[in-house]
This record gives sequence, C-alpha cells and structure tokens, in this order.
Amino acid sequence: ASRPFHPDDTQIEIRGHVVGGPEPTLIAGPCSVETREGLLEIAHAIKRSGAHMLRGGAFKPRSSPYSFQGLGEEGLKYLAEAREETGLAIVSEVMEPGLVPLVAEYVDVLQIGARNMQNFPLLKAVGRTGKPVLLKRGFSNTIEEWLMSAEYIMAEGNPNVILCERGIRTFETYTRNTLDLNAVPVVKHLSHLPVLVDPSHGVGHARYVMDMARAGIAAGAHGVIVEVHKDPTQAWSDGNQTITLETFDELARQVRAIHQVM
Ligand code: PEP
Ligand code: MN
Repeated sequence: ASRPFHPDDTQIEIRGHVVGGPEPTLIAGPCSVETREGLLEIAHAIKRSGAHMLRGGAFKPRSSPYSFQGLGEEGLKYLAEAREETGLAIVSEVMEPGLVPLVAEYVDVLQIGARNMQNFPLLKAVGRTGKPVLLKRGFSNTIEEWLMSAEYIMAEGNPNVILCERGIRTFETYTRNTLDLNAVPVVKHLSHLPVLVDPSHGVGHARYVMDMARAGIAAGAHGVIVEVHKDPTQAWSDGNQTITLETFDELARQVRAIHQVM
C-alpha cells in the first residue's frame, strides 16, 4: 500500500465509474437493507442525484445481539435487483470468512466494517476474491494498523483496496465518533490507495453530515459514503445519522462543486 512501491495513485474502475479518478465517488443508501420496495425507491432517487454506488448492510455488526441483524441473503437479492434496475454498483459488508463467497456473488464492492478491520482471516478471504474492497478504519486503530490491514488484502494478490475513514473514538460525546480528517492527507502521502470519508458514522447525527462531507472532500478525500433513507425516523438502524433523499441531492451537488476546485 506504500507510495515508494507504487508512485502513481491507484484507480479502481467499478461499473464504469473510476474510484480515485477525476469524479468524486458518491456512495449512498440505508444503513441496513430493509424492504425491497424501500430499497428500490432509495436506489432510484440517489441515482437521479448522481450517486455511483448503492450501499446497504445485509449482514449487520450490531452492538447488541438483540438489535436487527440484517436480512442476510434476502437483502443481497434486493441489492442485486436495485443494481439491475439502476445500474448502480453495490457495496455491502461481509463479516465472516465463510460468507465471503456468498456476498461476493452479489456485490461489486465488499465492505470490511470498522469492527473487523483487524480480522486477518477475513482480510485474507476478501483478498482472494480479487473484488474491490472498501476497508473501513477501525475506531481504535492507528493509520499504520489500517494500512497494514490493506496490506493483508493486497498480499493475497488483490490490489483493489479503497480506504474509508469513518471516525475514531475520542473523549468527545456530542458526536458518536470523531471523523479524523487528519487521516486523509496522511494516507494520501503514505499510500497510493484511494480514500473515502464516511461522515454518517463519523459524526452520528444527520444535521452534521453535510458539513463533514464537504470537509472530507476539502481535505482531499476521493469521495464520500453516506447513509440515506426516504424517512430516516423509520430506519431500522442508524436513523439518527441518516439523511433524507432531498438532503443527499444537495450534498451530492456540493461535493461535486468542492471537488471541482481541488
Ligand atoms: C456501516 O457502514 O453501516 C457500518 C456498520 O459501518 P462501520 O463499520 O464503520 O461502523
Ligand atoms: Mn450504519
């Protein structure tokens, strides 16, 4: 993942869009895949706003075992149907090595969640697929550890790693996490891999998402991943930090505008 081994920036083409290319990458969707109809409505709306990829968890890493755990394969089927209808690429999390072949069958990008950033057998398993991987930074992990996790994937022969800063734990409690924007220029200096920011998990409150999406792009991020829903108050997970379809439309416009002057 280190610059000296690969001086040029990595570009990853996914369904016609180049991550790390001239356009900022826009990924949006619900925290969890819920109903088929609800997902299709979100997919069509974000497509109209210029998104490149649809996100949605089918296997969810919930803090409580009693919270909704995701629809599993049924959710992956809804995501694949949304791709069929809209042409959006699909991003979804995989939590265990044994499920990598199943999830890889349905998605364009395998997401490694913050809680699994150092699950080394899982990193090796997604490395072996050769598919693009969105590697989130663990909320208590250093940049060095994050880049070493990217290395685990790449050492299996998979160069298609997209880094994602999603906030780290600090003493602050007004926000869910602290989006570490320092990490963006630092990893761009140390590594050739593209880096996105996730302001939704980074702040944990919908009202701050737009500001930190703009800030992430201004810091040099290659794009954003955000949680959106038709009615965030009804979302099955992470509703507090989920923005509306209308807000996403405006966020996409502002992200493109800022990226243009970078
Ligand atoms: C998510 O993207 O819904 C998610 C669980 O993210 P993280 O792993 O960053 O908490
Ligand atoms: Mn979430």
